[in-house]
Amino acid sequence: MIILSPQYSPEKSPSEIKENRPNWLGLPYYPISHFYKDKFGEKIRKISITTAQTCPNRQGLRGMKTCNFCDVWGSAAYPEFQSHSLSEQIDRVRDIMITKYKSKKFLIYFQAYTTTFTKVVQLREQLQIASTYSDVVGFVIGTRPDCVSDAVIDLCQEFAEKYFVALELGVQSFSEQQLLWMRRGHSAARSRSAIMKLKKVKTLDIGIHLMFGLPGETDQDIIKTALECNELGVDNVKLHNLHVLRNTPLEQDYLEKKFTPISQEDYFQRCKIFLQHLNPRIAVHRLAALSNKPGELVAPQWTSLKMKTYQDFLDFMSEEKAYQGQLLL
Ligand code: SF4
Repeated sequence: MIILSPQYSPEKSPSEIKENRPNWLGLPYYPISHFYKDKFGEKIRKISITTAQTCPNRQGLRGMKTCNFCDVWGSAAYPEFQSHSLSEQIDRVRDIMITKYKSKKFLIYFQAYTTTFTKVVQLREQLQIASTYSDVVGFVIGTRPDCVSDAVIDLCQEFAEKYFVALELGVQSFSEQQLLWMRRGHSAARSRSAIMKLKKVKTLDIGIHLMFGLPGETDQDIIKTALECNELGVDNVKLHNLHVLRNTPLEQDYLEKKFTPISQEDYFQRCKIFLQHLNPRIAVHRLAALSNKPGELVAPQWTSLKMKTYQDFLDFMSEEKAYQGQLLL
């Protein structure tokens, strides 16, 4: 059993685990916190804020519809504060983190909806406001593969001269069929071309969000997804199980028994396979979906206990003697 403790020593890993296993402080994958620590020399905290109020899907562009899994807040961490000014949103979380955790360095995470679905001049103003804080060392910009114009890339590149700049793309799946089912409104080909274009800018850090537990998904699909990540050279991934939230199109499918959420057992298996085929240089953010709004999660219930789910996953990986990159040739 892997215990979530800073004292955990990688030397205590089971002897069966290959000797060349990378050292991730006992974890079976390369956590993004480890990447940040290496990069900045200390623990980094993310401040999640909302500047965007919508996205192409919600605007019905090209006949698009809201993604079937998306709640009305577009993944905002603190929807109750999204009408506050950017500075107010930053101050609120930053003050708490400084007082509670003695945090010294921050990344501003533009999380909700589609941050780059706005005028570039507005995005510039937002980055300028966020960069007035001397302890802000960078930005993480959440967006979609079809919303990274040349002007957005140029702006990010400009800020990357002084700051760490990461873009997180909601790719979700590399299956065209699955993307249609989710009503994403962009293709897998579009995701690939956006990643390749962004990867040409060496100073940017490129992450993608992926969902597992889609209808008809197979282990082979998961392996192919991991290999795509390796080939495209993404820098990090964020994993989600597809969960059902209240007042989403998916809730209706769930109630009509047209969609069954993945079980914890199957999800862990998918994540294991994915990680085993993922290049160990790719950092991993979250490993499962999380709804932090009370009463919003409809199913599956196993995903509601964040720390227990995480610990169970670590135990599972330990029992399976599995780790990131293990099955890469
Ligand atoms: S998931 Fe993103 S793109 Fe889809 S409807 Fe929600 S905010 Fe819009």
